[in-house]
Amino acid sequence: MCHTCNKGDGEDHMLLCDGCDDAYHTYCLIPPMNDIPKGDWRCPKCVAKVIKVPLSYPIMPTVC
Ligand SMILES: [Zn+2]
Ligand SMILES: [Zn+2]
Repeated sequence: MCHTCNKGDGEDHMLLCDGCDDAYHTYCLIPPMNDIPKGDWRCPKCVAKVIKVPLSYPIMPTVC
């Protein structure tokens, strides 16, 4: 069930968050996604959580 529109249809467009297992339609996201991303995807809630976490470890390798 999509957490934005609370509907369970459109399974082909359903994204499952790897952080909290919430589901979202690609077209319910802001901005909407055209494709289901391959690999990990995190919902806006989990992305915000990651950003708020103190940088005790680097999320992305630093490239100089
Ligand atoms: Zn939806
Ligand atoms: Zn999530």
